[in-house]
Formats: sequence, structure tokens, C-alpha cells
Amino acid sequence: MRILLVVLSCAFVVSMYSAPARAAAQPQVFDTSAGPVKITPLNHASTLIEAGGKVIYLDPAKPVKFSGLPKADLILITDIHGDHMDPDSVKEISKAGTEVISSPAVAQTVTAAKPIANGETKSWQAWTIEAIPAYNIKRGPSPGKLFHEKGRGNGYVLTYGGKRFYFSGDTEGVPEMRALKNIDVAFVCMNLPYTMPPEEAADAVKAFHPKIVIPYHYRGSDLAVFKKGLEGTGIEVRLLDWYPK
Ligand code: ZN
Repeated sequence: MRILLVVLSCAFVVSMYSAPARAAAQPQVFDTSAGPVKITPLNHASTLIEAGGKVIYLDPAKPVKFSGLPKADLILITDIHGDHMDPDSVKEISKAGTEVISSPAVAQTVTAAKPIANGETKSWQAWTIEAIPAYNIKRGPSPGKLFHEKGRGNGYVLTYGGKRFYFSGDTEGVPEMRALKNIDVAFVCMNLPYTMPPEEAADAVKAFHPKIVIPYHYRGSDLAVFKKGLEGTGIEVRLLDWYPK
């Protein structure tokens, strides 16, 4: 009995000790006709997607610690900025046979990346990848300039087993986002000054009405405003911690 108590208390201490690291990982599992898709928030825009034994990273970048995480079969990159395209992280998670698919602007700098332009569709394994324009309409570093020019960055609609997952990339609530159809799970950015405030994000999400929306790339944004903006729409808002300490 005493041994059991010691073992149990050790297990408790160990679990207490490791709790902060685990608390941040909030994998979401979605059922599809081809089996489950597991999507794990890593940090900011960096996301791990696992399905059918394949590993996909979206925008792998610092400060994510990739030690202990699986190597990539596919890396998807949305834009040229360091929070999306990080050559060090790409190198760290690559193995023989890792493929990289990115917007053409990113593909110029990441060797061996296959470009996919706004509006194009590609197949990869059991996935279909559609590149959705991601850009600013009005926000930029100075008058007449935009943080994200149209054509440079991609959002992605990823389809697997009949389910459609949308990752917005860095964008405002552009017409191409508002016109999306049949999105099951949407990962939507918000942050000022670079993309959009939560009320604009909520307005755009209302227009394309995904079943579930998960804010990501939201540093400094008030997610309560976003959630309130979607009250009564029937859209499930899932708030996850994308900035683990
Ligand atoms: Zn960004």
C-alpha cells in the first residue's frame, strides 16, 4: 500500500511538473470519410496537421520547438514574412522526401518549394489543396502601401475525406474569403495593424458561414469581441491557446 502511495504521489508530481507544457497543446480531431484529421495549434500561425499517417505543417516557424514533433511529409507556407516562412524551421522538420508547397513568392526563396498561385488547385496524397488569395484591402505600413499585396500570399482550403479546412493566411476579410463555400473548419487570422480587427474577422466569417471557426494568428486581439460578433449565427467558435508560454 505504501509503495502504491509513493508511486501515485510520484506520478502526481510528474504530472504537475509537466502540466504547463501539455496545457498548451490542444489537438482538435475531426472525423472525415477517410478517417480522423488531427490539427494541433503550435504557435501563432504554425499548425500541425496529421491524417492517414501523413504529417503536414502549415507555416512552421519560431518560436515553435520542433524537437519531439514528427518530421514533415508536406510543408505548406502562406507568405514571405518570418512568422510564416522560416527556413530554419523548414530545415529542422524536413526529411528525405519532404515536399514544400507555397505561394510563388515564397517558392523563389525556399529551394524545392512547389509554387501554387492564388486560385490554383493541387492534389497531394489524399488531400486537395486550393490556394485562396490572402491580402490587405486597406491596411499598410504607409499611405498607398499594403502589408500584404494581392497575389503574394495564399490562404488554403484543404480537403480530406470530404471535409474542408480553411486556413486564411494573412488577410483582411477579402471577397474571396467571403465567397468560400462549404467550409467545415475555418482558421481565421486577426491582428492589427497587419491583418484585421476581430469585428471585421467576425463579419467576414459570417459571410461564408463555416460550421466551426477557430481564431489563429490573433496576437493582441480581443477574442471576446470576435466571439460576440458571431453570437446567434450557429457558427461554433472554438478558442484555443496559440501562444503557449
Ligand atoms: Zn503573419
